Amino acid sequence: MSDCVFCRIVARHSHADVVYEDDAVLAFRDIYPKAPVHLLIVPKRHIASLVEAGPDDAMVLGQCVVAARRLAETTGYAEKGFRLVVNTGPEGGQVVYHVHFHFTAGRRPRADA
Ligand code: 5GP
Ligand code: ZN
Repeated sequence: MSDCVFCRIVARHSHADVVYEDDAVLAFRDIYPKAPVHLLIVPKRHIASLVEAGPDDAMVLGQCVVAARRLAETTGYAEKGFRLVVNTGPEGGQVVYHVHFHFTAGRRPRADA
């Protein structure tokens, strides 16, 4: 089995509080939420980081963004607003090397964050 924590969640070998799923995308609650709503949206297929992404990944990355829009509606933040962030690489604050979009909402973000 993969030693990637998010691949394990996708395969249902590790538990997560799943909030959205389709053929290519899974979304679940962040285990250490940093905002009142803090979801992680991941491609089911392993892509280590945005730096590793190529033209073949464009479709699934777009599906992640569309999933964010759906989650904005289901969580009630489509109008109020939300933030979508992809930390990339060591100086970008990436800890888990499986591409993930942080969806946060419910608190005014810092101007510089
Ligand atoms: P990064 O710093 O790589 O952009 O963010 C990784 C995020 O994944 C962090 O916000 C962290 O709380 C979350 N995380 C790490 N391990 C797990 C896990 O096993 N389950 C869930 N649901 N979230 C995790
Ligand atoms: Zn993975």
